[in-house]
Amino acid sequence: MESSRSAALEEFALARERLVRRLSERGVRDERVLKAVYETPRHRFLPEAFWGQAYKDTPVPIGEGQTISAPGVVATMTEALSLAGHEQVLEVGTGSGYQAALLHSLAATVLSIERIPVLAEQAEAILSEMGCDRVKVRVGDGTQGAADCAPFDRILVTAGGPELPLPLLSQLAIGGLLVGPFGRRGEQELLRVQRAGAQRFTREVIGRCRFVDLIGEAGWSAR
Ligand code: SAM
Repeated sequence: MESSRSAALEEFALARERLVRRLSERGVRDERVLKAVYETPRHRFLPEAFWGQAYKDTPVPIGEGQTISAPGVVATMTEALSLAGHEQVLEVGTGSGYQAALLHSLAATVLSIERIPVLAEQAEAILSEMGCDRVKVRVGDGTQGAADCAPFDRILVTAGGPELPLPLLSQLAIGGLLVGPFGRRGEQELLRVQRAGAQRFTREVIGRCRFVDLIGEAGWSAR
């Protein structure tokens, strides 16, 4: 029993090594991000029935009509945050908790907001089991951010919204970065926005993507 468990863990570690090689071939350069992907057991954030897909570059259902994003997209977005390790990060859309675990390896603190209570509860449990003690999970509408904890050095939005939520822009520290998908339902531009001054923001499109809806006061209304 014990030996089959350790064989499975070894297999997962090899699969993560292959995944990291693929991500690197596809242009992910940040060694800290690649190391975090290698060290974070993505299968633990999935329902056991999907463990076989954990290290493929594909999104996977996590229940409640939501998904954990494909590792390639997660790595690209994480790299775009240019994290050095000292940052206070806000994540909108906790989902499975996998992205929050990666951010925990790369930043100082992470506040992650999820609108669906059961997902927040599950993510919180697994994050705590994994010792991610600098991640806090909160249930609520992440489009409103968390004014009581602002400003944030980095904000990562992991659901697709119609436009940049103004409350999030106002909670970004000067010099800070926000990364997230914005545009039409079903297809968005991946934006990287920098707050250059109190009222000055620069933005660049770093890719195209397809995320589940960002639902909330400064997002889409629920269908
Ligand atoms: N980052 C997640 C992970 O690592 O598993 C994947 C996020 S999933 C693609 C998008 C998540 O955003 C869903 O769990 C969804 O419920 C959540 N969501 C959508 N709108 C939200 C909002 N306004 N506030 C907080 N969470 C929201």
